[in-house]
Amino acid sequence: MKLSQRGDFRPTYNELAKLRAFFPLRIPVLATTATTNSQCLREICSCLGIDHTTSSYLNLGNDSPNISYHVHYISSTKDLDGIRPHLSHTIPSHSARSHLSKTIVFVNAVLLSQIAAREIQQWFPNHLRKCVDYLHAYRSPQAKQRVMDSFRRGEIKILIATEAAGMGADIPDIEQVIQFGVPSSLSVWMQRASRAGCSSSINARAILLAQYEWKKVDDVLRKWIEANECRRSIAGKNFNNPIEDHPAPTHICCDNCSSIALDASSVQERISTPEPIERSDDDETDVNSTPSTPTKSANGNRKRIMAQPQPSKPSRRHGPHLAQVRLSLQKWRVNTVRNSYTPGPFTNAAFMPDSVIKVLASNREIETAAQLQAAVHWAFAQRHAEDVLTVLRRVDAA
Ligand SMILES: [Zn+2]
Repeated sequence: MKLSQRGDFRPTYNELAKLRAFFPLRIPVLATTATTNSQCLREICSCLGIDHTTSSYLNLGNDSPNISYHVHYISSTKDLDGIRPHLSHTIPSHSARSHLSKTIVFVNAVLLSQIAAREIQQWFPNHLRKCVDYLHAYRSPQAKQRVMDSFRRGEIKILIATEAAGMGADIPDIEQVIQFGVPSSLSVWMQRASRAGCSSSINARAILLAQYEWKKVDDVLRKWIEANECRRSIAGKNFNNPIEDHPAPTHICCDNCSSIALDASSVQERISTPEPIERSDDDETDVNSTPSTPTKSANGNRKRIMAQPQPSKPSRRHGPHLAQVRLSLQKWRVNTVRNSYTPGPFTNAAFMPDSVIKVLASNREIETAAQLQAAVHWAFAQRHAEDVLTVLRRVDAA
């Protein structure tokens, strides 16, 4: 018996209590679920007559470390152009089908799936339009089978779907799930998002396109959408995901973190711990001068001692040379996003914030990858340190 979600997700699951009534209580029951919180768990136990004193509960969590979560806003659920930046804005006319990311776009209405499919087909050159199709509960069984088989084989690369494709679509190589319009609950969204990245070798994305106004949404989904903190952490708390021994995200955690390789505990810390402030070259305080101001607190002798000098400031680039280094880093940023992360969720600034460029350009003492990673809090420092150092060395030598 598989109990995948509450009745708002699969209304017929509410009827399972009747089915349970046909079996004596001594008959073992296994209930499994991908998305449940404490309240839902109590409802499931009550519904199926599960006795806490004679049952076992195993919580493996539902976090997928290879899925990166993002929220973007659209003007309304008619704003299909809101999907476009995530699908086709960089597809040149000579692109091959293999250049497209395998994507499911979930919509909340049958008719919308057909309208969206027709619209999205027009965004692609003629030879790629057959890579876009749609699936909903009212298509014939033959059509459903054909579409799912083609999607599985990669002939269809972009599938516009209602809930009909949400379950039973265990296709390992889906790189991206886009939810067009806010769904009814975080559970529904997590179920849909988890269609992406079923193969652990894929770094997948789950993008929720939220209209500015919505009504029927559960509180935790509202919190998840409006959050400024880590979305993975919010979902983890709601679903009681275990923190210990859980794999760290394999790439970008979420748009609020824009970080990589966070372990589960640091995701928790991120909520309460302010980010370290990077020193910029605009901070012109002469830290090498003799201290001239006392500390704010008194020592044991009731004396306010003079402030201790800060560590000496590293040597800096200045003037036209500094401007040239900054420009070179900005050019490298644009090219890297275009060549390595497109199509993808990152703007240039999201990939490499201006504050990071400012520090890297001004600090002339950064010569190794380790020094670079220590100097800036940059999500891609480990991956791109050598590339950035090459840029810096080239401009310095010019
Ligand atoms: Zn996060």
